[in-house]
Amino acid sequence: MQGKIKWFSGEKGYGYIVGDDGQDYYFNVREVKGAELPSNGDAVTFEPGQGKKGPRATAVAITSKALSPSHSNSNRHSDDRATCPHCGKKMVPRIITYHGEPQKSVCPFCGGTYKKFGCFIATAVYGDFYAPEVIALRRFRDETLEVCAIGRAFISLYYRCSPPIAAFLANRPLLSALVRLPLNVLARRNG
Ligand SMILES: [Zn+2]
Repeated sequence: MQGKIKWFSGEKGYGYIVGDDGQDYYFNVREVKGAELPSNGDAVTFEPGQGKKGPRATAVAITSKALSPSHSNSNRHSDDRATCPHCGKKMVPRIITYHGEPQKSVCPFCGGTYKKFGCFIATAVYGDFYAPEVIALRRFRDETLEVCAIGRAFISLYYRCSPPIAAFLANRPLLSALVRLPLNVLARRNG
């Protein structure tokens, strides 16, 4: 079935699609195909179904992105920016820290929360938010990656891609072990 994203929160990990039949369908972020997260107004295709609490969409695929106000620029570098779920502008989220720990990132235009932090990949792989390796990786991310443009692009990509990757890894222990190897090297270097 075809439909449009009525509402989606990357922070909460779920949203609703209004289908061509006029019904609202709940969907979990894990049902979204590909690395790109949906934003409000995106056209999608999905498999309609019934969940315990009502209509539910699976196999959600974005077919066309909703146009944002700043869409007219042809600058390819804008691709590493995220779309604010509140105001719809393309932006680089600003990271808010509290006692040195990143708390969330916000849209620099409207101040809306873009993402609450957890180190998605590392937490899923290590299974513990406060494992020493996870803390070291967070520090590496905050102190090293942020200082250069490539690092910022990486962070942006990482935050867009990693919730689905983390969900994928959480169910695959062997693969998790493989991912852990390079992460361990990084963590030790910055621990
Ligand atoms: Zn905004």
